[in-house]
Parts: sequence; structure tokens; C-alpha cells
Amino acid sequence: MSLIAVGTMAFDAIETPFGKTDRIVGGSATYVAYASSYFVQPVHQVSIVGNDFPAEEMNELRSRGVQLEGVEVVPDKKSFFWSGKYHLDMNSRDTLVTDLNVLADFNPRIPDSYQGAAFLMLGNLDPVIQKQVIGQLNPRPKLIVMDTMNFWMDIKMPQLLETLRLTDVLLVNDSEARQLSGEFSIVKAARKILTMGPKYLIIKKGEHGALLFHEKQVFFAPALPLEEVFDPTGAGDTFAGGFIGYLAKTNDISFNNMKTAIIVGSAMASFCVEKFGPERLKDVSKGEIDGRIQEFVDLVSFDIELS
Ligand code: AMP
Repeated sequence: MSLIAVGTMAFDAIETPFGKTDRIVGGSATYVAYASSYFVQPVHQVSIVGNDFPAEEMNELRSRGVQLEGVEVVPDKKSFFWSGKYHLDMNSRDTLVTDLNVLADFNPRIPDSYQGAAFLMLGNLDPVIQKQVIGQLNPRPKLIVMDTMNFWMDIKMPQLLETLRLTDVLLVNDSEARQLSGEFSIVKAARKILTMGPKYLIIKKGEHGALLFHEKQVFFAPALPLEEVFDPTGAGDTFAGGFIGYLAKTNDISFNNMKTAIIVGSAMASFCVEKFGPERLKDVSKGEIDGRIQEFVDLVSFDIELS
């Protein structure tokens, strides 16, 4: 089943306790595309870049079945730029710079060839633009997954709530779930968010895994205890790409299959953090992915006899 991925294609400057990068390629849609292309091709990409976005990166994406017809290139402007600094625990970070650049006048037009896609991944992006994309898709995809972040909650909460009403699955981290719902308890927050539109909610908890909520059901997926975490940037988007990529590959959007998709997303995210930027996602093999999924299975399986 085909997939449309919408989001930023960007430059990032990242500082972690283990090192610092100047401008490297990043962006929510870049990570989603690399991760999802292991499971489904083509990935129909929708984004905007300036004249500075590297042609080699575009070619690399193309070689993985990522279609770029929906990526607008603005000749006289710069790509979106984001800079962040991670705290020692690597679970939290401060945003230092957000330069919208080309994103300030992004008005996405979905190519005809993208119509009919069954899966839509709305990567982290202005909620007004996310809504504009949904409005252009006819027929409506069978599953719309939305990612967002505190930045948009701070400045566009009413618009974000409008877009949220049109989606099926929301992905946020725990502090964003609290901000969105106004509830401290994650369970209460989830219950409230599930009345705001999405029927499924995934709350990411960084190195502490992720929770999937649907009606009265809850599923918990751990994160692998990794020896080295180099750069968590893009881990959330990579998780999203693995999650929706697996759902698109299996064409099954049941709660049960979403549990597996969360494990697949977590496995992909565990690769992402091993190097700065999306680099590690470019050289991971099918065998490594399968091996890592098996590690997740081993991590949580145990026998118990209850008397
Ligand atoms: P993640 O670590 O999964 O939250 O994603 C980090 C990526 O999101 C980086 O590569 C950034 O370029 C991108 N990003 C950061 N801030 C924003 C924003 N406000 N809107 C869209 N994308 C963003």
C-alpha cells in the first residue's frame, strides 16, 4: 500500500554531551522517508527545500524509492533550519534556533500521482499545512497519522486542535501529551486526547519506550537499553516512519498489528540514535532490522505460572 509522507526537509545543528555538528541534513520528513522506505515503496514525499538542500541527499532518497515530485524547491531561499542542544539525560533538549525560511510560505500541492494513497504520515509541521494536505486528498487515506510538537502547541494550539479532529493516530511525547490535555496523569491525558479526534494515541517516552492507547486498551513497548546513544534527533520521526511503513506494508490497521508496528518503529529508532543525523538509517541491513526486532521480543518475554 502506498504512503504519503509530509514534513520538513531541513538542516540541523545539534549539540549532545558527546559532540556537536554544524549544519547536517535533517527534518521530520527526511527521517520518516528513510525509515519507512525499508518497508514500503514508493514513499510519496511532500516537503519544501531551498536552493541549499544537497542534490546528493535527494538522489540518495530517490534510490530508496522516495518520490520527490511533491517536494518544492525554492531557488532563492534557504531550507528550514533547526538547532538543538540535548541535556545530559539525552531525553530532553532545548531548541536554540528555529528558522522557518522556506517553510514560512509553504503551500503544498499534492501531485495527482500521489492520489489514492492509503496511508498518510503527517510529520511534525505547521498544523495549518497538515490540514491543507488532508483537504487535498481524495479519497481520504484509510489511515492518517499525525506527529506534532510543543513548538506548534505554543503558537498554534487552536489550529492544531482543528487538524487533530481529522486524524486517526496521534504521536506525541509525554510532556506534549500533558500540554495538549492539561492533565498530569498520562492515563487521564490519554483518555482526554482520545476524545479530541484520534482513535489511537501513541505517547513516546524516549529511552523509556512508548505507550499505545485505544479505547480501553493499552500496550507498552520498551525501548532497547542501548550502550551508546549518540544523537536522539529524529528518533521520533524514525519511529513514526517505521510504524507507518510497517502498517502500509501489511495493510492491516488493527490494534494488534499496531502493537507490532510500534516494536518495528522502536527498532528503527534504536538505529537512528547511533549516529548523528539520518546516517545510520542509510546503511542498516534487513538482517540487522530483524535482529533488533528479535531483541525486543527477548527483552519482554518471560514465562510465569500463576497458581
Ligand atoms: P525529532 O527528534 O524526532 O523530534 O525530530 C527532529 C527533527 O525535526 C529535526 O531534524 C528538525 O529539523 C525537525 N524539526 C524541529 N523543529 C521543527 C518544527 N518546529 N517543525 C517541523 N520540524 C521540526
